[in-house]
Amino acid sequence: MKITEIHLYSHQLPVKNGPYKMANAEVWSLDTTLVRIVTDTGLVGWGETCPVGPTYQPQHALGARAALIEMAQGLIGANPLHPLLLRRRMDGLLNGHRYAKAAIDIAAYDLLGKATGLRVADLLGGAVTERVPSYYASGVGAPDEIARIAAEKMAEGYPRMQVKIGGRPVEVDIEVLRKVWEVIRDSGMRLAADGNRGLPTRDALRLSRECPDIPFIMEQPCNTLEEIAAIRSQVHHGIYMDENGEDLATVIRAVGQGLVDGFGMKVTRIGGLHAMATFRDICEARTLPHTCDDAWGGDIINAACTHIGATVSPRLMEGVWLAAPYVEGNYDSKNGIRIEGGHIKLPEGPGLGVVPDEGIFGAPIASFG
Ligand SMILES: [Mg+2]
Repeated sequence: MKITEIHLYSHQLPVKNGPYKMANAEVWSLDTTLVRIVTDTGLVGWGETCPVGPTYQPQHALGARAALIEMAQGLIGANPLHPLLLRRRMDGLLNGHRYAKAAIDIAAYDLLGKATGLRVADLLGGAVTERVPSYYASGVGAPDEIARIAAEKMAEGYPRMQVKIGGRPVEVDIEVLRKVWEVIRDSGMRLAADGNRGLPTRDALRLSRECPDIPFIMEQPCNTLEEIAAIRSQVHHGIYMDENGEDLATVIRAVGQGLVDGFGMKVTRIGGLHAMATFRDICEARTLPHTCDDAWGGDIINAACTHIGATVSPRLMEGVWLAAPYVEGNYDSKNGIRIEGGHIKLPEGPGLGVVPDEGIFGAPIASFG
């Protein structure tokens, strides 16, 4: 099989009841980038990448598109059924920019599945469940409001709640965690406090010191690996890395040095499904729980996260976060990804199992072939 055409599309995903607030960012609408790969067999594969604004990480929508434009012509003629060789070919065309390369990688897995009749989860080692657990992430909000959301999500069946903290006096964050814990403490619902790099070490230490009775994990409380290392031995709570987990080398360093107890991981940040499967196996080798998320995006990203999430050992699975609850509609009106009862049904069709409706993204912004 050979790649004969690559088409790039831009698509707006407005945030329902926006903005979505994090410690360092506020987003009203996300600019997602879709990739459609056409092959000489007539089979078509879809990929997507959607940074959640320009300040969440050193990645942004125009950067993704520039990187894809830089590489696309050099990928014409490549065999998409070999994701490893495709990744090396991309590395030979452009240094870094894993979040853009991930869109190509996802499209390649979609094609590999369509060519073999297998689901992407099967290609990634096999699904352990058809009903993948999700988790709900509140934005940064007032204590009573976040406690109300936690009660609602607990009733819906979510097994885990992530509360966004940071960017304000730590007393308010402590009050949020106390109120949420009062609501969920007897439910079995797990709790994460996500600082999104926003806490000074002073505040992270205080948060942990004043809540020794609440079993939350602290996700990416501080900005850098050095800050996390500085608080590591002083806190009562497990620490997960999210934004700092930029690549496999950093993951290996964090795991090897015992810097973290788990990860929030994003499929596109790490470089796509091929790298994500390696990450999953590193975590399993050291019994480290993790999520399988992406920063944002629509059905293509959501399907990719669900397929890799379905392969994670259940005892290490912290859930698949999707932007779906914050985004109106689906690309695939029939098989689009939805969260029901806090869980996501693994798509059944070959490849990603979702196919965008004809013409939904309009004309390509760039085409190669
Ligand atoms: Mg996070």
